[in-house]
Amino acid sequence: MGTENPGRPNFPMTASPFAAAPPPTTTPFSASGPVVGSEASGFRPQAQPPQNTMPSMSSGPVAGPQASGYRPNNLPARFNDPPVSSPPAAYAPPIGGPPFQRYPTPQFPSVHQIPPPRAPPIGQPPFQPPAGQVPSPASFHPQPQAHAVPMGSPPSRASDLQLPSDSSSFAPRANFQPPFSSMDSSYSAPRANLQPPLPGYVKQANSVSQAPPMAPFQAQQGSYAAPIPTPPPPYHPQQGGFSQPPPIAAPFGLHSRDQIQHPGSAPPIGGIQGLAEDFGSLSIGAVPGTIDSGLDPKALPRPLDGEAESNLLGEAYSMNCNPRYLRLTTSAIPSSQSLLSRWHCPLGAVVCPLAEAPEGEEVPVINFVSTGIIRCRRCRTYVNPYVTFTDSGRKWRCNICALLNDVPGDYFAQLDATGRRIDLNQRPELIKGSVDFVAPTEYMVRPPMPPLYFFLIDVSVSAVRSGMIEVVAQTIKSCLDELPGYPRTQVGFITFDSTIHFYNMKSSLTQPQMMVVSDLDDIFVPLPDDLLVNLSESRPVVEAFLDSLPSMFQDNVNMESALGPAVKAAFMVMSQLGGKLLIFQNTMPSLGVGRLKLRGDDLRVYGTDKEYALRIPEDPFYKNMAAECTKYQIGVNVYAFGDKYIDIASLGALAKYSGGQIYYYPSFQSASHGEKLRHELARDLTRETAWEAVMRVRCGKGIRFSSYHGNFMLRSTDLLALPAVDCDKAYGAQLSLEETLLTSQTVYFQVALLYTASCGERRIRVHTAAVPVVTDLGEMYRHADTGAIVSLFARLAIEKSLSHKLEDSRSSVQLRIVKALREFRNLHAVQHRLGGRMIYPESLKLLPLYGLALSKSAALRGGYTDVQLDDRCAVGFTMMALPVNKLLKLLYPSLLRVDEYLLKPSSQTDEFKNIMKKLPLTAESLDSRGLYVYDDGFRFVVWFGRMLSPDLAMNLLGQDAAVEFSKVALGKHDTEMSRKLMGVLRKLRERDSSYYQLCNLVRQGEQPREGFLLLTNFVEDQIGGTSGYSEWMVQIHRQVQQSA
Ligand SMILES: [Zn+2]
Repeated sequence: MGTENPGRPNFPMTASPFAAAPPPTTTPFSASGPVVGSEASGFRPQAQPPQNTMPSMSSGPVAGPQASGYRPNNLPARFNDPPVSSPPAAYAPPIGGPPFQRYPTPQFPSVHQIPPPRAPPIGQPPFQPPAGQVPSPASFHPQPQAHAVPMGSPPSRASDLQLPSDSSSFAPRANFQPPFSSMDSSYSAPRANLQPPLPGYVKQANSVSQAPPMAPFQAQQGSYAAPIPTPPPPYHPQQGGFSQPPPIAAPFGLHSRDQIQHPGSAPPIGGIQGLAEDFGSLSIGAVPGTIDSGLDPKALPRPLDGEAESNLLGEAYSMNCNPRYLRLTTSAIPSSQSLLSRWHCPLGAVVCPLAEAPEGEEVPVINFVSTGIIRCRRCRTYVNPYVTFTDSGRKWRCNICALLNDVPGDYFAQLDATGRRIDLNQRPELIKGSVDFVAPTEYMVRPPMPPLYFFLIDVSVSAVRSGMIEVVAQTIKSCLDELPGYPRTQVGFITFDSTIHFYNMKSSLTQPQMMVVSDLDDIFVPLPDDLLVNLSESRPVVEAFLDSLPSMFQDNVNMESALGPAVKAAFMVMSQLGGKLLIFQNTMPSLGVGRLKLRGDDLRVYGTDKEYALRIPEDPFYKNMAAECTKYQIGVNVYAFGDKYIDIASLGALAKYSGGQIYYYPSFQSASHGEKLRHELARDLTRETAWEAVMRVRCGKGIRFSSYHGNFMLRSTDLLALPAVDCDKAYGAQLSLEETLLTSQTVYFQVALLYTASCGERRIRVHTAAVPVVTDLGEMYRHADTGAIVSLFARLAIEKSLSHKLEDSRSSVQLRIVKALREFRNLHAVQHRLGGRMIYPESLKLLPLYGLALSKSAALRGGYTDVQLDDRCAVGFTMMALPVNKLLKLLYPSLLRVDEYLLKPSSQTDEFKNIMKKLPLTAESLDSRGLYVYDDGFRFVVWFGRMLSPDLAMNLLGQDAAVEFSKVALGKHDTEMSRKLMGVLRKLRERDSSYYQLCNLVRQGEQPREGFLLLTNFVEDQIGGTSGYSEWMVQIHRQVQQSA
């Protein structure tokens, strides 16, 4: 949440900003002048829960009713031209009020009569109190069946029932101060290397400089003419951007039956030299016929050379943000609709606004203490490296809309002879593509919220038996010191089976106090003020609770699950502040609202047009609940366990539409899966999180983002609501051209994420990038980013599988690849007489392979027998949120051979790098004398060849070497080889800690285990009627040639 614009006169900036919040307007932002901002005002909950807030499909724009829940009515209809120059309204913190402003607690069906007491359900936890009534605070319905139950040694009867009289859990604390006082600038002293002299355009492709210009591509250079800076550029070298590109290699590989060459597997042709030769050989005459199975599989392109980040974005404009934050499907924007229509890949972006930066590359934090944040007064673009200063430094021109803005007095600096500001090196926002601006009070509708973690834990019998509760309790306890936001962090807990158990954790208690609510139809919250507590104040009570949680329910035999009512209860507790809700669910919800039934057992549905219905939520409750959560700044993460069908499609909607994620642990048993849960939960609890956030991506005139894809809800047509967002979340978006012809030569993109940092500071993270507009399709191909394209393909295909057959999703991917390659072929086929050869742009050489891998991913492959329904849905939800590199790794995992490394004497451990060489994902890569590690980022499979040295197996497994592998866990043994293998696995895990890879052992030939663990994932092989890589290429090639 946040507000938009400093100085907006009719924006209610009063001492209690929420109370005065006017209802939102439905007027959408105009496309040419997007803004981050007053959108946020919409986050403000009304005293009554806003009506009409149905979640929207992520890919579609939101229509009026939704938006209406979020905007002030009387804001100007357009945000293009707000007067910004007037001073911001002063923010007067509420005097004497609580430092956090709470939302009014929304109430579910408000029932004013007192329900009759009910007999406790069978299977009630043993500490169900005999009796006892809890007087409730006025704002909650008094209900007789809430029982305060002391845990541990029972306190006296009196204290048992004693309730705090008022106690806001946000009693003013010295250490919390709304962060709008003067910030000591966290921006460190400028570094000398911030502003290197930048060449206009440095092409980083290998060996381009020595390459002779390629005739066929000369013509295209015209499209890269230097952008004409309307005002004189303040610093030529940087802003000239794209002046004279060197001749660019026509980077595509050529395939034929007997002449497939590829870097990595054959003589390199990446450079111009190789290409020129390739063209030369082509001009002699095309190979007759078509590619057939004679195609040499070794020569096919594969991503085996490590995980290098694409840096297409930085090639042309070196001040662009790092591609870890923003990747475009092509860093060359088509100038016209007709050109775009020939680009059959998606045109769009993948944004990961909080991606983790390596040490030394952190995003600088900038505090314009007195100036206010510098933004274009027309289009609200944030000041960035591509704005230009003029009029002796008194004016600046917006790079997105070209408006000339005044430079505020405090921001003024003189220009040097070349037109550069003399203070450039002290201004990271003018030289860096990514910055964090500290947001002043105008960007808030309430003081920044504290980090808040609320845990909703299933304690039914299956949860108890799986050991899940114990692992969860231990992990939370072990993370208490590392939760972000100390000392403001708040926590709370609810457990549930057929009833709902609340815990009073008031700091004055020595033991938490349990209250049981058994009326599922009319949930109320007992003791609303002490269920959410400040962790640093109530730490001993919280620890006592976590210590006793596993044993509290160890004898529970209750099989029911009232998840829906429990979620509502958690929502009611959290809704005043927002925060992160973590749900641990071990069985299918069986009671109360949101109860689910076994689906997917009607086999007749599969393969029909109705099959998709199994992949979408059965009950609208989950999606509606997620919408409510989003509105109140609650992000939901669902941890699903269970050895049976649990309906991930329905449960996952809670996370999907609240910007969260789904973790799925099928058949969870703490002994074998505990480690994975421990790591992933710890990561979830300790990673840096941005709270109450909204995100918008602006772009230049004539172009706009038309659809968004990922886990979130849209707040308006182009504003993503992200209650809790972290470094592991990415979002896809597609672009469309609004005008038939783009006249500018450069298009700018600016991602703005308005959020509350865990430290309590309101910030805006801004990523800016510039890309050229081109008139030539070849340039679009040349600057294509396969990773971004595959990310969008994956999101689109998964979305399609929610309304179509899987087969339709798969063929849509294939069709677009064929169309893209056909268009490329048409560009070159005639003049080079390519005949039967398959050609593709070098930039897209891996696109067919990733397309194949996507079709074979668990989200899309086969039919109902191939992947369990819950698995499929869980993978789908996960893939929708994955950043590009993690998705690519899941689609084409690493296969490494490690036995030789393990057998070598330890003195030669520098050989480590050698074994990190990835192998093609085919069974042919496996040697029966070898030991291999397969790593898809989510799990390991360690494959023992049949002829592997028994000595090695003994060293790694000890006596277990003879046991059936499904019963063996890889543990550390006191041998050199075991230590080395564990070291390899540790290094692989360290590369990306967002998920934890559990280790599965499999022996060659041990079926069906070897099949489902490993062989089905060898995307290059023909498995179960699917095409192998070679066949796939032949198929694609034939389709490309048809009507080519
Ligand atoms: Zn502007």
